[in-house]
Amino acid sequence: MKTMTLQEFQAACQAQASNREQIVFRCPMCGTMQSAQQLIAAGAGADFGAVERYLGFSCIGRFTGAESPRRDPDGRPCNWTLGGLLQTHRMEVVTTDGKHHPHFELATNVEAEMHRAALAGSSI
Ligand SMILES: [Zn+2]
Repeated sequence: MKTMTLQEFQAACQAQASNREQIVFRCPMCGTMQSAQQLIAAGAGADFGAVERYLGFSCIGRFTGAESPRRDPDGRPCNWTLGGLLQTHRMEVVTTDGKHHPHFELATNVEAEMHRAALAGSSI
């Protein structure tokens, strides 16, 4: 299990994106990349504050009627959330109180750039 302190996590987020709505995470089950901007576009909430609790925790597919994760990721979102009984996450953020919070992994900076560029060319 990969762990990051909250401070490390926030620094990594800031290094990846200049705007918090543009930070890109990867669902551990389907492998798709997703951001708050996409959650808002998918109808999960009206603004960052409304989708923050889903970001990096519930796959965007939950808001688009996606199926359960497939055995082999096919590039489409799934309906996974880290709140279930099965522990499938690969990363935890450790807060100063010592608690471990499951979280989707951050995309690498290069992956995030490519993802944002692809989105900019589509309607979402
Ligand atoms: Zn997923």
